[in-house]
Amino acid sequence: MTSAVGAGPARVPGCYSCDRDALPALPPREDVWSSALWRVAHAFDTALPGWLVVLPRRHVVAMAELTDVEAVELGPLLVDLGRALASVTGCVKTYVMQFAEAEGFGHVHLHVVPRAADLAPELRGPRVFALLGLPEAERVSEGEQDRLALAIRAALRHT
Ligand SMILES: [Zn+2]
Repeated sequence: MTSAVGAGPARVPGCYSCDRDALPALPPREDVWSSALWRVAHAFDTALPGWLVVLPRRHVVAMAELTDVEAVELGPLLVDLGRALASVTGCVKTYVMQFAEAEGFGHVHLHVVPRAADLAPELRGPRVFALLGLPEAERVSEGEQDRLALAIRAALRHT
């Protein structure tokens, strides 16, 4: 069974993604690309430059809750992001993962992660999550996240 209209609430206060989406203006790192349905952000707590997160713009907690219209936009977006990341970071492939299990982060979010040719073997596959959830001193700086966001946005225009 499919649906054309989302049934979930538009935004849920206290949800990290919804709270960001409600802000009147976002820095490039929080708005790498957006449409009426999806927003792409740079992960805020990663040590891996170019780690992106793709978020539906309404509060959805399971992939099954996405509408057909959201789904239709998601597929090409993921491929375009893979191409843009290859162009900007030189990655040889991109990982795509969706869990939404962390406390306060139940809002569906797809991780789109550039995998460099020289990524350490012990960080490949799901072990790449060792590069997420890091203390501030180990994260890609906000300035660098903004720089990457603008470069990825520019690359997306050419995909
Ligand atoms: Zn939410």
